[in-house]
Amino acid sequence: MKNFQIIKALSSSSAVASITKDTSVMFIAGGTNLVDLMKKNVVAPDKLIDINALDLKKIEFLNGKVSIGALAKNSQVAEDQSIKEKLPLLALALAAGASQQIRHMATVGGNMLQRTRCPYFYNTDMPCNKRVPKSGCGAIGGTNRMAAVFGTSDSCIAVHPSDMCVALAALDATVLVEGPKGKRQINFTDFHRLPGNTPEKDNTLEIRELITSIEIPDNNFTKNVHYLKVRDRSSYAFALVSVAVALELKNNVISNAKLAMGGVAHKPWRLTETEDFLKGKTASEDIFKQAGKLGMKGARGYGDNDFKLTLGANAITEALTIAASK
Ligand SMILES: Cc1cc2nc3c(=O)[nH]c(=O)nc-3n(C[C@H](O)[C@H](O)[C@H](O)COP(=O)(O)OP(=O)(O)OC[C@H]3O[C@@H](n4cnc5c(N)ncnc54)[C@H](O)[C@@H]3O)c2cc1C
Ligand code: SF4
Repeated sequence: MKNFQIIKALSSSSAVASITKDTSVMFIAGGTNLVDLMKKNVVAPDKLIDINALDLKKIEFLNGKVSIGALAKNSQVAEDQSIKEKLPLLALALAAGASQQIRHMATVGGNMLQRTRCPYFYNTDMPCNKRVPKSGCGAIGGTNRMAAVFGTSDSCIAVHPSDMCVALAALDATVLVEGPKGKRQINFTDFHRLPGNTPEKDNTLEIRELITSIEIPDNNFTKNVHYLKVRDRSSYAFALVSVAVALELKNNVISNAKLAMGGVAHKPWRLTETEDFLKGKTASEDIFKQAGKLGMKGARGYGDNDFKLTLGANAITEALTIAASK
């Protein structure tokens, strides 16, 4: 790892002003992903802007929405009693990620910007279009058990690894950012992007923008929710496939449904067609099986990850069944 400078930012505007157009200067929050990437020489900034002193840690229950600061720790959000009551899906998804120690360091903003866990991305001896544009993709035709089955391109088949982001996509969150041109908001489902020809770009954030908070509109998803994470070990492992489900049920009839998947695409994968299919239906084993099949319509495997097509359908069915039974 090369030597670098670290500077503590005391305001959002000074943090933004410190960042250069290339990656020679980067923000650091909990450091749980960035430091690993620096140790492996995947990124090599000259200077880090430590944003931990900024006043961006609050969880606030405002009129019609919940606001969570970008520097709130993953454990702080997951264990907040009001979040557990008002946004239980978010609390469940956060608790399914990493380990308690990592959740104590990891921040909301850092979680959104964590890089893929594709093994070729972390190995600088291997080709990877995301790490070095136009160098090739080792995973296509190589080891690709964790890879995406939706929204892939000939350039990249990596998945976004976050659990938290799957719940936020399902809950229609908004991302608030501040940059040299001022402040703006981005719909959560537009924040992460598909790889296309530019897999080096994970999201729609501009280079010098700082995430300041996320907002989640109030909803009635306080009971029939579930976050199902299928992984190789029962803790401390990324999702092979995950499903976030939030249902509103009246006399066992589904009046509203939100669904998103993790481990299947370069971004949290919202299942809007399946949501529309479920609305107005009576919750039943058969309907949830049909929803599982519909949710995986159009999925494509790359060899090692072909199992995700069946696993994904079964996981959707299982997550819906558990959510409806609460
Ligand atoms: C062993 C291990 C297991 C893990 N398992 C899981 C898991 O199962 N599920 C899961 O979801 N995650 C998992 N993680 C990932 C973990 O959740 C992320 O590393 C963490 O959320 C990143 O947050 P951070 O604050 O440490 O970010 P950092 O490492 O500090 O930063 C990450 C990136 O975000 C940028 N950044 C940070 N904050 C901001 C901001 N406010 N505005 C703009 N840019 C910003 C940094 O410049 C950097 O590029 C795991 C990590 C490890 C090490
Ligand atoms: S899938 Fe994406 S991250 Fe993985 S090797 Fe290919 S280009 Fe790199």
